[in-house]
Amino acid sequence: MCLFCDIIEGKIPSNKVYEDDKVLCFRDINPVAPTHVLVVPKKHYDDILDISKAEDGAEYLGAVANGISKVAEADNLGNGFRVINNCGEDGGQTVKHVHFHVIGGVKLTEKMI
Ligand code: AMP
Ligand code: ZN
Repeated sequence: MCLFCDIIEGKIPSNKVYEDDKVLCFRDINPVAPTHVLVVPKKHYDDILDISKAEDGAEYLGAVANGISKVAEADNLGNGFRVINNCGEDGGQTVKHVHFHVIGGVKLTEKMI
């Protein structure tokens, strides 16, 4: 069982921002900024390493990039935003289905890099 696979299949409700055949973008349940959307490939890959190794990974990563731009458009993030991918234990990944946090709607000051 994977939480995000269940959300993709509609078994668990989500607040959708954008969706196509390869990607689902929905609002994070615990937002850290006015916009906090998760961009999730509709096919299960554990993490960025897994998707980068897969034969169809580039196709899904392209869909992720498009999903990010749709979220930016939907939430009027023309002034900028941040994309974060947590990978593995040291990266603090809690859901083992690769996803990208799109964070914005406010001037982001807490920069690690
Ligand atoms: P990460 O820590 O990078 O693996 O991110 C997992 C994210 O999923 C966290 O920011 C959670 O708040 C979010 N999350 C967990 N359950 C749900 C849910 N049911 N709907 C939306 N977001 C969720
Ligand atoms: Zn999954």
